[in-house]
Amino acid sequence: MRILLVEDDEMLGHGTHTGMLQYGYQADWVKDGHSALEATKEHEYDAIVLDLGLPKLSGLKVLRQWRSDGIVTPVIILTARDSIEDRVNGLDTGADDYLVKPFDLDELCARLRAMQRRSINDNKAASANLLTYKNIKLDIAAHTVSCDDEIISIPRREFALLQKLLENAGQVMSREQLSQSLYGWDDEIDSNALEVHIHNLRKKLNATFIRTIRGVGYMADKEK
Ligand code: CA
Repeated sequence: MRILLVEDDEMLGHGTHTGMLQYGYQADWVKDGHSALEATKEHEYDAIVLDLGLPKLSGLKVLRQWRSDGIVTPVIILTARDSIEDRVNGLDTGADDYLVKPFDLDELCARLRAMQRRSINDNKAASANLLTYKNIKLDIAAHTVSCDDEIISIPRREFALLQKLLENAGQVMSREQLSQSLYGWDDEIDSNALEVHIHNLRKKLNATFIRTIRGVGYMADKEK
C-alpha cells in the first residue's frame, strides 16, 4: 500500500513517516502543498494523510484541487484539536476521514486499513454493475452501453438482450430464454423480433462475439 504523507511539522512528519515504514507501508513524505500536488502527478497512491495547515498552499486548497482533477484517492486530514471548522470544511471538500493531533500511530494505521477496505468494497460494487467484453462495456446501474468508451444508443430491449448474453457469456442461450428477457415490456413480441434485435446489436457494436448456435439460440463469447 503506497501512502502520501503531507506534513510540514518536522518532528510529527518524521515520526509518522518512520512509523508508517515500520508498519510496512510504502510511504512518501512531502512538506508543503505544491509538493503534494506534484507527488500525485508522479505517483498513484492508495491513501493520503494530509495536514491542513501547510505552507505555500493550504491542505484544504490541495484537497479541493485533487477532487476537481478527479483524483479520488482516499484522504485522511490531520486537524488541530480545537478546530471543528477545519474538520467540517475538510470533510465537505472531500476528505474521507480525519484525525485530531496529536494522534496515535496505531490509530492512524487502523484508519488507513478501514479506508482501504471501504474503497475495495466500493470498487467491487462498481464492477458488479459492469459487464464487459473487450472494448464493450455495459453498465447496468447507469443503463449505458459503450464501445471504445463511446456511449452507444441502444433501445431498452436490445440492452436487456445484451445484458442477458453477457451475464451468461460462454453458455448457449436458447431462443426461449432470450425471448423471455424481451418480454415484460408493454408491446407484443413478434416471432422474429429476437433475430432483429441480435442483428441490430451486432451492427451497432460491430460485434462478432454474439454467435448463432443453429437450431438452439445464441451465445456470447467469453472473454479469455
Ligand atoms: Ca502544519
